[in-house]
Amino acid sequence: MDTKYIFVTGGVVSSLGKGIISASIGKLLQARGYKVTIQKFDPYINIDPGTLNPYEHGECYVTVDGMETDLDLGHYERFTGIHTTRNNSITTGRIYKTVIDRERHGDYLGKTIQVVPHITDEIKRRMLREEEKNEQLDFIITEVGGTIGDIESAPFMEAIRQLRWQLGRNAVCVHLTYVPYLKAADELKTKPTQHSVKELQGMGIQPDILVLRTERHLDDHVRMKVASFCNVDLECVVQSEDMPSIYEVPVSMQKQGLDAAIMRKIGIPVGETPAMQSWHDFIQKQRSASREVHIGLVGKYDLQDAYKSIRESLNLAGIYNDVKAKIHFVNSEEITAENVASKLEGMAGIVVCPGFGSRGIEGKIIAAEYGRTNDIPTFGICLGMQMMVIEFARNVLGYKDANSAEMDGKTPHNVIDIMEEQKNITQMGGTMRLGAYECELVEGSRVAKAYRDNGGNHAADATGTVAATTISERHRHRYEFNNAYKEEYERAGMKCVGINPASNLVEIVEIPEKKWYIGTQFHPEYSSTVLHPHPLFMDFIKACATS
Ligand code: GLN
Repeated sequence: MDTKYIFVTGGVVSSLGKGIISASIGKLLQARGYKVTIQKFDPYINIDPGTLNPYEHGECYVTVDGMETDLDLGHYERFTGIHTTRNNSITTGRIYKTVIDRERHGDYLGKTIQVVPHITDEIKRRMLREEEKNEQLDFIITEVGGTIGDIESAPFMEAIRQLRWQLGRNAVCVHLTYVPYLKAADELKTKPTQHSVKELQGMGIQPDILVLRTERHLDDHVRMKVASFCNVDLECVVQSEDMPSIYEVPVSMQKQGLDAAIMRKIGIPVGETPAMQSWHDFIQKQRSASREVHIGLVGKYDLQDAYKSIRESLNLAGIYNDVKAKIHFVNSEEITAENVASKLEGMAGIVVCPGFGSRGIEGKIIAAEYGRTNDIPTFGICLGMQMMVIEFARNVLGYKDANSAEMDGKTPHNVIDIMEEQKNITQMGGTMRLGAYECELVEGSRVAKAYRDNGGNHAADATGTVAATTISERHRHRYEFNNAYKEEYERAGMKCVGINPASNLVEIVEIPEKKWYIGTQFHPEYSSTVLHPHPLFMDFIKACATS
């Protein structure tokens, strides 16, 4: 089958859940046996979201091949289990950079370089994934960030218009809009949808399918009104009501026939609706998990999206352990030795979050100490692991001034330090250890057992191959455990149980005599998916639920 293209745009307001809808479409088509990928085009000028403050844009998600991307890619991977790559996350900045570099190189032979056709051609080339022709995909789903009518998204819309024309029936446009409910009038308002579709039509794009985001159920009368005002078939007007969980969205979309509508538009036989048994089993488990397990999330960004993948990994692992992981954000900047007990009171487990810079790190160190000395299951991720290592140096090894070179370049006890080969790099963007690296687990360690007990490293291998003691996990950091101290740590009880075979860098530390005290230099949260929750999160929640 020729590759088919689905374009997902949004109107009226932002944050409608385009990412979840795109991920759901991917999931539903995948369930029908199709090979899919989902990519995100963002209209901002940053080359990638790597340097964006999490308050601006939520977490930065990292692909296996080391691209810092938009958090929507996390949804795509969690829903479908596919591995996205650097070419699944494109920004206006990257498009312009490619075109400008080409211009400097003389590739345009003296032509005047313009938004149309040069920028739009480059957008089209990437929407078609021309560099990845060998992927042999059945469907490429392209989500465009921002809102219709924004000045900055205009070139993307023009590219979609041209592609629609060029691809004919092989392309489908899905448009998401918001249907507000006005309490005073007790009415659901479709006018914003009509306007949004008009705007799209004004750019030469007729949407094939409308997904109406709504807090109240829309009856057929409302859907009919939208269908007739927007030139869309009634069966192609679906609604995205508020759901108890985002993971119910694909089920709701399937019930309303969103995937079938897409297939009919393209002209492929619809056939039977796939059962998606394991997904339904998961939803069932989610609905029935009632016992709450309280987890303290120690970080510095009090924003749901800032630690999105960690939150979702905890949720997913909770569900598979038949509990509800109740996450309590604890601001590390506010933690002191005096108040740590009250701040973390009642927590069955503690997660010390990743991060950059010195703000809030002392609170993370105190939280790590509290977890260690009270034997509460504690999971340190990236900077969180580094804080565990520093805490251990200060309070067990007796190096009161131990620190990371990131926070204190002059400390004589640099237990966390920059890697030799990175010392010359001073630029901020894209200079980190990024993406998947191998790690050998030490036999007999808690982590080796955790991976073994929980289906292995699905994370690393989309084919589902279960690796025994070699895993592969994603990174995003500059600093490392300083191997000069390794023996001292091990003698004192903190073991280095995961080692990168190529560089000998420490990837995991654990204190075996504690119930669960583990820190990972990598980010396991990026590879938890709905059908394969990450082994370390599974094991952590299990320890929290039983302690
Ligand atoms: N700031 C630390 C480093 O660069 C940790 C980064 C992180 O937590 N992702 O090594």
